[in-house]
Amino acid sequence: MKRELTCIICPRGCGLTVEINGDSVTVTGNACPKGQQYGVDECTNPTRTVTSIVRVANRVDTMVSVKTENPIPKENIFDLMQIICAKEVNAPIEIGDIICDDVFGTKVIATKQVK
Ligand code: SF4
Repeated sequence: MKRELTCIICPRGCGLTVEINGDSVTVTGNACPKGQQYGVDECTNPTRTVTSIVRVANRVDTMVSVKTENPIPKENIFDLMQIICAKEVNAPIEIGDIICDDVFGTKVIATKQVK
């Protein structure tokens, strides 16, 4: 099987060709080793860092930006977004505070301070 991908690790956006033959995965078109790893991961275990916002219950019209501490499997993104959408937190919030603990093998943390 052959797949054509665009590497999203940096703005250069190299066009990758990934060939999968059994357990063998070959990546070409990458200008650096990060693209090699991206191509392999994207075709064997695709993951994404998820960013979103969470409602701050004790502040009027206030949301706090959040992200997953580590990438999660793409297949879990929809379920994670449902958890994040149902979540409310109270200020004060510091950058790095844990908003959701132990979700799909990682944490959701705040990326903005709310006083
Ligand atoms: S292969 Fe390397 S240089 Fe090309 S887009 Fe990916 S990270 Fe950037």
